[in-house]
Amino acid sequence: MTTAASMTIKDGLLSAATWLASPNKNMRPTDISIDTIVIHNISLPPNDFGACNSDGIPYVKALFTNQLDWNAHPYFKSIEGAEVSAHLFIERDGTITQFVNFNERAWHAGRSSYLGRPECNNYSIGIELEGSDFMPFTQEQYDTLAPVIAAIYDAYPKTRRHVTGHSDIAPGRKTDPGDFFEWPKLREMVAHSLIDSKL
Ligand SMILES: [Zn+2]
Repeated sequence: MTTAASMTIKDGLLSAATWLASPNKNMRPTDISIDTIVIHNISLPPNDFGACNSDGIPYVKALFTNQLDWNAHPYFKSIEGAEVSAHLFIERDGTITQFVNFNERAWHAGRSSYLGRPECNNYSIGIELEGSDFMPFTQEQYDTLAPVIAAIYDAYPKTRRHVTGHSDIAPGRKTDPGDFFEWPKLREMVAHSLIDSKL
């Protein structure tokens, strides 16, 4: 289990994550501060976990780095050419990959609005959990996500109490992280992580 103590953020990079650079990013507007965390789920093809390109790169990581073979699965035709990313991707076993520096703008939210403000990508950190709307997330994912959020709170204090779901910022268009995502459990675990990190 990853502990809160091992989660630190320095210069926009999470210590516990493996770095894999995505080209799908740009600068945040200069007049904003990071104040929101957006939770997503993704699996490629949908509901299939850990499937890989012929070169061994998991499809989700391939998508975020523009290496997905659009011919590898019929579903991929429906997203062909998509240029997307997230700051973090947490796999079913809790492994974390970071694709975009937190201080830069990842392309995860699309058309979106939070508390009346459009373009959530400008001011949010996007975290993708490997998962689907139709099944529970793993304990390992919660065990990782909670201290990650606590570390983000520490590094970007304005994000406190502003953890939301993609479905909440793009209602009618997006459904993730889905009804299986346990928000009360996450909140409780984040609170414990914050306490642990102060001990
Ligand atoms: Zn999403």
